[in-house]
Amino acid sequence: MPRPIVLVQPDAPLHDLPGHPESQARLEAALTGVPPELRVSVPGASASPGNLARVHAPAYIAAVRERCEALTGIGQLDPDTYITPRSYDVARSAAGLALEAARYALAGTSAFAMVRPPGHHAERTHAMGFCLFNSVAVAAAAALDMVRRVAIVDWDVHHGNGTQAAFYGTDRVLYCSVHRRFHFPGTGWYDERGADAGLGFTLNAPLAAGSTGADYRHVFESVVCPALAAFGPDLVLVSAGQDPLADDPLGGMALVPADFGMMARLLLEATGRPLALALEGGYGPGHADAVVAVLDALEGGDAPAARGEPRAVTRHVAEFLVAGSPLLDDR
Ligand SMILES: [Zn+2]
Repeated sequence: MPRPIVLVQPDAPLHDLPGHPESQARLEAALTGVPPELRVSVPGASASPGNLARVHAPAYIAAVRERCEALTGIGQLDPDTYITPRSYDVARSAAGLALEAARYALAGTSAFAMVRPPGHHAERTHAMGFCLFNSVAVAAAAALDMVRRVAIVDWDVHHGNGTQAAFYGTDRVLYCSVHRRFHFPGTGWYDERGADAGLGFTLNAPLAAGSTGADYRHVFESVVCPALAAFGPDLVLVSAGQDPLADDPLGGMALVPADFGMMARLLLEATGRPLALALEGGYGPGHADAVVAVLDALEGGDAPAARGEPRAVTRHVAEFLVAGSPLLDDR
């Protein structure tokens, strides 16, 4: 398979609040293991207001622009989510680069958009949890013009409430999230399975705090990958938050960097498709190693198997999801 590429975002420093967990420093730290030859810059990549409006209300898009333009320093869209005078542009470029990653994947090359701010908490009408615009959802919505079916796998430790909401009623987008239960933002229980035509096309695996790579492997092998294989996506997007790492200050899970390579490899094997990843969370010192592990897997490297056994609570979540999923009930 072709070498993966890493899409970099030159304007990311314009959205920054030093000392905040979601700062430019954490992106720079995450990139330290990425070889220069894999880095690709796409000048001018930016989601148009029309592309944003597939996911966000036009009044919200305009409000973000106006709030940023009126600033002289740092502002807040909610208690967690800061903005700078340039945040509107930076969030648009993050979404634009997620869409570029999707274009690369559709052309046969896996791509990891290393972008910020993150996106998966952003809802149709409001910012939330460090997120302004939902980059992965914007990319998925735009891709539905090009292909029939899009899968989104979200391994960030937090549930992607905004992404789930964007596609809750459609059978053209399969949203699979593995996250920590009873954690921010509080959504993503396993009985949230989609509605109307989308019933069964949302799969949430809320795992207990302290879950390990063995738990994640079990959920991927028994739920996420079989669902992907049954769904047959034309495009696979990943909301790649590396905050389930054991050393992450916001996570509370117990993954090691190699576990992210394991998940990427399982997705490649299940779908036979290149992956389009976009950065979500990831705030700890192990983040750079996790990114390298993902890139190694995308390049065909052999990710080491997760050691240990899944815990009983993880098996129960997986059994419940398999029993309740129209995509999985023929197995
Ligand atoms: Zn997160």
